[in-house]
Parts: sequence; structure tokens; C-alpha cells
Amino acid sequence: MSVLADLAALQEVDSQRDELITRTRELQRLIADDPHLTERQQLRAAVQQALREHRLIQARIEGEIATEQEQITRREELLRSPSIQDEHSYLAVQQELDHHRNHTHDLEDALLATLEDVEVTDRRLADLDREIAALEAGRVEQIKVWKKELQSIVTAGRGIEAERVRRVAPIPADTLQHYERLRREKGGRAVSVVQGHMCGACRLTLSAGTFTRVRGGSFVHCDHCGRLLYLP
Ligand SMILES: [Zn+2]
Repeated sequence: MSVLADLAALQEVDSQRDELITRTRELQRLIADDPHLTERQQLRAAVQQALREHRLIQARIEGEIATEQEQITRREELLRSPSIQDEHSYLAVQQELDHHRNHTHDLEDALLATLEDVEVTDRRLADLDREIAALEAGRVEQIKVWKKELQSIVTAGRGIEAERVRRVAPIPADTLQHYERLRREKGGRAVSVVQGHMCGACRLTLSAGTFTRVRGGSFVHCDHCGRLLYLP
């Protein structure tokens, strides 16, 4: 096999190796974090906080209503008692009573609205709990599948490393260095297979001189993209 054929074969192995590395990183990222689940959990925390606030408001209004009820009861008793003699005092207490009753009415309206907030928020929280539980359960299963795939990648990786050692062996050190540098610069593709009179990587037609030298088996770079040309 020519050195170019050796390099083309090595590139084949290196591409497979890159794919495994990319997939490994992807799987590790998937296993470590689920952005959608995290987003739902953050939303749940916010909804729970809102529920706490609605309940505090509910408790405050209920407290105010109880206070108003005491005021009302006291004045009702006062109106029934013989201690009020004149009409003026009677009317004043009656006025206060009306005021407290009106205020109670407003408070009851506010309480109804708050109870509705509590109910809606409580239901939203329960929905989120169900959704998160389903997501977590699905994720447990998914992680098992991903871990299994990682295992198979480790196994495949061992085979590829061994194959790479075999492929690298016949290649001279300086040629290998050149190949590796070119591969880094050219997005993982250092060697380009010539197709017709065209570079297989950049799809541009080679000059007649370049093509003749490639056909003669020389070490030639593409006129356009600079990759090593290989004519099988
Ligand atoms: Zn090219």
C-alpha cells in the first residue's frame, strides 16, 4: 500500500474515532442534565412560592374578617342592651355597625378571589408534580439506554484504538505529523479522494498539472483546499 492509501485508511479510522468521541460527549451531557426537566422544576418552585403567598393573604383576610365579626357582635349586643338611652347614641352605633358590615362584605369578596387564586395555583402545582414525575421516570429509563450505549462505545473505542495503532505503524513520523496538522486545519479531513478530475472534498476541478502528478502517485495538495490528494 502507498503512503497515501495508508493515510486514507487512517483517516477512515480517525473519522470513526471522532464520531465516537462526539457521541460520548453528547451522551455525557444528556445524562448529566435535562434542561427541560430543570426548567419545569424551576417553574414548580415559583408556583409553590406563589401558593405560599396566596395562603398568607388568605390567612390575613380571614383574620381581618374575624376581627370585624367581633366588632359587629359587640355593637349588636350594644344595640340590644338598655345602656343606650338616647336616639343619637343609638344612631351612632347603628352607623358603626353598617360600616363594619360593609367592610366585612368587601373582605369576603377579597377572600373569595384569594380562595380562587389558591385553588388555581394548587391545581397548577399538582399538574406540574405529575408532569415532573413522568419526566423523571422517563429519564431514569432513558439514562439506562444512554449508559448502555456509552458502554458499547467504550468497547467499540478499544477496537478502533487497536486498529489505529495498526494503521499508524507503516506511516513515517513526519508524514503522520503533516497529516495530523492538516486534519486539524481542515475540519477532520486531511486526505481527499480524487473523483474524475475533481477534488472529492472541495468539489473543484484540479489543474491538469496537479492531476498528472496525482496520477503519477506523487504527494500533491489540492490547488483549492490544500488537502492531500489520493487517487485510489
Ligand atoms: Zn480540494
